[in-house]
Amino acid sequence: MERKKVLVIGGGAAGMSSALELAERGVEVYLVEKEKEIGGRAATYCCKATDECNRCAACLVLQEKDKVAQEPLIQVYTSARVEEIKKRGNGYQVKILYDGDDAVTLEVQAVIVATGFDPYDLSRRSEFAYGVEKNVITGLELEKAIKEKGGLVAAFGSDIKKIGFIQCVGSRDLSIGNGYCSRVCCMYAAKLAKIIRHELPDAEINIFYMDFQSFGKCFSEFNKELRETDKIKFIRAIPSKIYGFPYDRLTVRYTDSLVGKQTEDKYDLIVLSLAITPSRGSRDLAERLGITLDKYGFMQGGAEGIFAAGVCEGPKDIPQTIGHAKAAAGEAYRYLFS
Ligand SMILES: Cc1cc2nc3c(=O)[nH]c(=O)nc-3n(C[C@H](O)[C@H](O)[C@H](O)COP(=O)(O)OP(=O)(O)OC[C@H]3O[C@@H](n4cnc5c(N)ncnc54)[C@H](O)[C@@H]3O)c2cc1C
Ligand code: SF4
Ligand code: SF4
Repeated sequence: MERKKVLVIGGGAAGMSSALELAERGVEVYLVEKEKEIGGRAATYCCKATDECNRCAACLVLQEKDKVAQEPLIQVYTSARVEEIKKRGNGYQVKILYDGDDAVTLEVQAVIVATGFDPYDLSRRSEFAYGVEKNVITGLELEKAIKEKGGLVAAFGSDIKKIGFIQCVGSRDLSIGNGYCSRVCCMYAAKLAKIIRHELPDAEINIFYMDFQSFGKCFSEFNKELRETDKIKFIRAIPSKIYGFPYDRLTVRYTDSLVGKQTEDKYDLIVLSLAITPSRGSRDLAERLGITLDKYGFMQGGAEGIFAAGVCEGPKDIPQTIGHAKAAAGEAYRYLFS
């Protein structure tokens, strides 16, 4: 009997996990990734171990990437996009453009969409001075800089003495239509703060928050440890303005909700925990594949033989993404053999 074939769109943690699950069950997979390499966002994250592993799961993604490279039933197309997709018989005919001018037409019986997320677009939020002040960065940029340079000092210099994390930027904010919680940024900010404290024991680290989202017992304990052992301070306020002058530190203006007073404070580095939003192009893809979207643009139910996996369906951390993607692959498998 000819092998069943599945197209997986997006080669991040979700796409790779779905592809591996299907391949392990004997299904042939075409994995299409728009970037030059598979791995998705999480392949750029740093290890958050201090003297011990802090269970951030970033290394799981690198392991999945190695497994994909060794799996003969997965054919990877990078720098690739789905140019055309149409229903044909019991499946779909797909035209893929990859590596510049190359094209291939494939027949598949099911499709898994795993297009992930983009960070919240800050272009209309001038109050944070992002793109104006070089030491105002995003969580994604901090992850990448620490991974590439090996530490905060190597990445930003030895003058960094006071660091602020600003939570919920673009999340849980009905004034901009994003009422949902991005679910991962409290966890990664806390773990990043912990490795910075480990590298720079004398640095002052403050986390600005609305209310600290804690998922599960482990994280509540981690949070307690941050306050007590690592001396990280939590300020219940979202800053209203950040500005700088040449040769001066960054000024952060905020109203502390506990004291009720407007305050200005100086920082050397500000990290914005941006909302997870559906990736650009996912709306167009959803229309072409008959996928319904929720009110924020995350993918819900698909048409016949179409399944959504990972963060394109809603915010998740890496372990949840992998679990969701394996479940989506299981559903696709049952569909193929029902
Ligand atoms: C700053 C930050 C730090 C984080 N740190 C952690 C952490 O320490 N631990 C943790 O557990 N979680 C962390 N997360 C969450 C983690 O990023 C996600 O769980 C994970 O990336 C989800 O994987 P995904 O495959 O669903 O999406 P993505 O990682 O976004 O992957 C999607 C892939 O699809 C590709 N793609 C998109 N559209 C198309 C298209 N049309 N055609 C082809 N390819 C396409 C993209 O290029 C990408 O490679 C963090 C999130 C952020 C924002
Ligand atoms: S990447 Fe994260 S999970 Fe892996 S060893 Fe480092 S801290 Fe632990
Ligand atoms: S996870 Fe934390 S920072 Fe992110 S939106 Fe939810 S409460 Fe805000």
